[in-house]
Amino acid sequence: MKTTSEIPFILFFCAVMIFIVSCSKSDDSIPLTVFSVSDDIGLGYQMDQEILDNPQEYPLLDSIQYVAAYAHLDQIRNAVLASGKLTYTNDFAWKFRIIRNDSVVNAFCTPGGYIYIYTGIIKALNNEAQFAGVLAHEMAHADCRHTSEQLTLVYGETLLLSLILGNNPSELAELVSAIALGLGNLAYSPSHEYEADSYAVKYLYPTQYDAASLGDFFTIMQEESPKPIFLSAHPSPEDRLTKINEAFASLGGVHGQLYFDTYQQFKKLIP
Ligand SMILES: [Zn+2]
Repeated sequence: MKTTSEIPFILFFCAVMIFIVSCSKSDDSIPLTVFSVSDDIGLGYQMDQEILDNPQEYPLLDSIQYVAAYAHLDQIRNAVLASGKLTYTNDFAWKFRIIRNDSVVNAFCTPGGYIYIYTGIIKALNNEAQFAGVLAHEMAHADCRHTSEQLTLVYGETLLLSLILGNNPSELAELVSAIALGLGNLAYSPSHEYEADSYAVKYLYPTQYDAASLGDFFTIMQEESPKPIFLSAHPSPEDRLTKINEAFASLGGVHGQLYFDTYQQFKKLIP
């Protein structure tokens, strides 16, 4: 039982912890004003429905046919969520889907935690620590609300809110489809990219995965031609690698596992 004098200290401690755990607001971002966390969830659900309804553009691997591949993805997701470093662990969907297209080296997310991974990026990576780094990076964009921030910057909060409310569905259907189609190429600000990288390191550090491997991924991908979409954001891969290494060192710099063999087994589950 807590004494009365301890309570203000505990409240202060909790407030500090929430501040530390929550993503910082970047200088060059537009703050979300009326767009709430539940709006992130609503918009993410709508985008996901749009993606499920468009197999031409998004040929998803069937979750029943590829049950083992999805179970493996869920294991990685659960390890990241168990780090306790995300703000919306219990609020967002954290639903992973694989898109069958080997020519696209990319992954993307919606607000509210729906994550899409192209088979192209799965095949381009060497080990599971790198892959977990990429997934954690996308989870960070959703958890830090970068995606809703960027979408409201492009489309405006009022328009996105009217989408969620479902006003005038026929007029808005095309817009929902256009927004969903643009998600894979959504241009985050440099500070969003740095922040997603450094949060990915924070999420992975308490897990078994080597949290520095996201940096290896950038080194490998620089050799690829043409440059993967995942690298096309403004900050240079060299700068991102430097900041990833700084984030890793600031947490103690202890390397985790790469899980090379496990990852080769996972790749065999992917057509
Ligand atoms: Zn990113």
